[in-house]
Amino acid sequence: MRPNTGLFTWPLATARRESLLQDAFRVSIGKRLTVPGWLKSPFGARSSLVISLVAVLALIAGSLVVLQITDQMRREDDGRLASEAGLVADAIHETMTAASSDIRLARQNVVFEEALANSTGQLLPEDRAAVESAITYLGDRYDVDEICVIRTSGLETARWVGGSGVAAVANLSPDERPNNPAVLPTLELPDDSFFQTDPYVSPDSTRWVIGVATPIVLSTGVTAGILHFEIPIARFAAQLQDISFGGTSYNMLLDREGHLLAHPQLEAFRAAANTPIDVNTAPFPLATSTGSASWRDAVGQMLSGSSGTASFEDGGRTYRVSYEPVPDANRIIAVVTPTSELYADVDRALLNLGVTAGPLLLLMVVVIVWFARRMASANSGLTGLNQRLSYTNIQLEETSKASAELAHESAIVNQFTELTALTEDDVSLSAATLATLDELVRVNDACLHVSNQSQDRAVPQATLGDRKGHVLSLHELGRCPAVRRSSLYVTDDVSSRLAYRCPVYPVETGTLACVPLVALGETVGAAHLHWSKTRELPLPIRLAITRIGEHSALSIANRRLLLALRGQANTDARTGLTNNRAFDESVQRRMNARGGSDRAAILMLDLDRFKEFNDRFGHPAGDEALRVFAHVLASSIREPDLAARYGGEEFAVYLAGAGAPEAAEVAERIRERTESTIIPIGPGQTGRLTVSIGFAVTPDDGTERVLLMKAADDALYRAKLAGRNQVVGRLPLAAMSTNGAKASSRRKAPAA
Ligand code: GH3
Ligand code: MG
Ligand code: MG
Repeated sequence: MRPNTGLFTWPLATARRESLLQDAFRVSIGKRLTVPGWLKSPFGARSSLVISLVAVLALIAGSLVVLQITDQMRREDDGRLASEAGLVADAIHETMTAASSDIRLARQNVVFEEALANSTGQLLPEDRAAVESAITYLGDRYDVDEICVIRTSGLETARWVGGSGVAAVANLSPDERPNNPAVLPTLELPDDSFFQTDPYVSPDSTRWVIGVATPIVLSTGVTAGILHFEIPIARFAAQLQDISFGGTSYNMLLDREGHLLAHPQLEAFRAAANTPIDVNTAPFPLATSTGSASWRDAVGQMLSGSSGTASFEDGGRTYRVSYEPVPDANRIIAVVTPTSELYADVDRALLNLGVTAGPLLLLMVVVIVWFARRMASANSGLTGLNQRLSYTNIQLEETSKASAELAHESAIVNQFTELTALTEDDVSLSAATLATLDELVRVNDACLHVSNQSQDRAVPQATLGDRKGHVLSLHELGRCPAVRRSSLYVTDDVSSRLAYRCPVYPVETGTLACVPLVALGETVGAAHLHWSKTRELPLPIRLAITRIGEHSALSIANRRLLLALRGQANTDARTGLTNNRAFDESVQRRMNARGGSDRAAILMLDLDRFKEFNDRFGHPAGDEALRVFAHVLASSIREPDLAARYGGEEFAVYLAGAGAPEAAEVAERIRERTESTIIPIGPGQTGRLTVSIGFAVTPDDGTERVLLMKAADDALYRAKLAGRNQVVGRLPLAAMSTNGAKASSRRKAPAA
């Protein structure tokens, strides 16, 4: 018998899987996914992506190139500004050095030395003329405010004051050292070197000047005095104004402390400084005394001691400043220009680029945005699709997991089916049933009761765990809720107050499943499964348990049915005796088992003149006579012997362990009882019968069943011939009677 696998839903699982796949496919072909027509790019999503990427990259590359070019242009502009600053610094330097070289030339004029060699301090008339002509030349040449020769003692030997000619020596100050900041430092210097002073107010010109001086060292090595002249600061300012970078740019001059010596808005700085007049510094205020924060930062950079470029904002404009220290001097020059002028070329180039490339850029941006929207839309569609597919995948996984579980259960049930086909009795079938259930749901203990053959008791045929089963009356088994309802009864938590306690399988805690064994509407038993902990039994598992219970019950019922059918097939329906086929098989089996060595006898019996009996009393009476005779026969033999109806009114008996004397004795007993038995035929009517019996014994009449039966049949024939109602064996009658048994008897047949 094959299991009903339909219960285990293989086809269902497959159908579910297919429907999920179809669902996923329907999604993927886009029945639910629509993109607005206007958003559809003429290219595929991939091409759109590539085009967008290329456009973005081109945009980035173009921007980088433009940045690079404009940066380079700005650097070049800065370079122009820096070289301008260098030029200005050189010009200032040149002014200073030109003055210095000329003063050196003048100094080399021996006139000065001779003049100073004169210890009187007064020039000789001839020397005086020479000195005057020399300093007049220098004064004219350099547009200085003053040139003078000062002795070490501070006594001024000669002085030329701008425009006014050579002053009279007699009027000169006797000690120039306190008035002239150049005297003392210059006297310390070696020959042929120069000293520059900070700006100071010349007492002679009353203008702000810078003093330049060189020592006059005599051939004796004695420093006799200095040659000194003053350059007005206004002269530098004028010089700076003359050198122009162009536009509204301007130049300025600072000392290294940050005092502004020349600047177009010097007056504004002076006003902002707002400090008491200090002859040394007040007219030249600190550059940081006013201006924006970025200006002050820029000044800080200028004072760093090196050259460079900085930016600052002032009055809403941005300026670029290039600064440079003046060589060999305590000065810094700076060239300032508005960035709008400095970088005008860059702005022009950008404007040109904007005019020519702008529309193109705009177009590219539009295309990128368009493609990006297309991509975003496609992407969101894909995301939705992915979500659906992953959801489908999860469902498929669950289905396949369920399928695997079903496959496992199905395999267990299949094994159970094979086991039941091979088991031979209720005990092994019960054990297989419990083992299968345990394999399926892993119980802690269990018991399986099966009703006995006589249908009055339920016997525990198999147990699991440490359970001992008890024999129950069928009535007691009927108190199990599952047996009462003919369906599985599960108590999820036995300890619950509301739980029904099965009296057949009393437990205190855990889960109990009562499985009825019902086949063809008849209860053949029940299985009780117990788990010590509470547990869930999902529906598929319950179905599987039920199915195994049903199958087990069906197997038990079938086996019983088979046994009953087999019994019917071997029995003669009329008399209830074994029929001839079963008799032959049984005798053959027994003789085979004995190997023909043991003794046994076969009796063949035939009712005498039965046809006449039938004719006289009717066929039904004949039938009754056959039943009466069968009863006589059955009651005349013992347990291991076998009596059979062999044909119409022919019978056969197998006598186990009987020799000829015993066979004759039994046969005679049968004959006598038959003869004396009254057969009821109808109201007030009876009949009688006699029987003729032939017998044969093994091994004397043969060791084969067929030979033995033939011999018995022959003996029966002889009994008929001899007049009926008698027993005949193979041996002569005389030999039989030696055992004291009446081996053959002849009677007159009863009156019909
Ligand atoms: P004999 O003494 O020589 O054996 O004579 P007989 O009449 O018994 O022998 P025969 O073979 O001539 O007749 C047998 C009869 O048994 C014929 C048949 O109708 C009858 N018979 C056989 N089977 C049945 C049966 O099941 N019921 C009835 N009522 N009669 C049967
Ligand atoms: Mg006959
Ligand atoms: Mg007969």
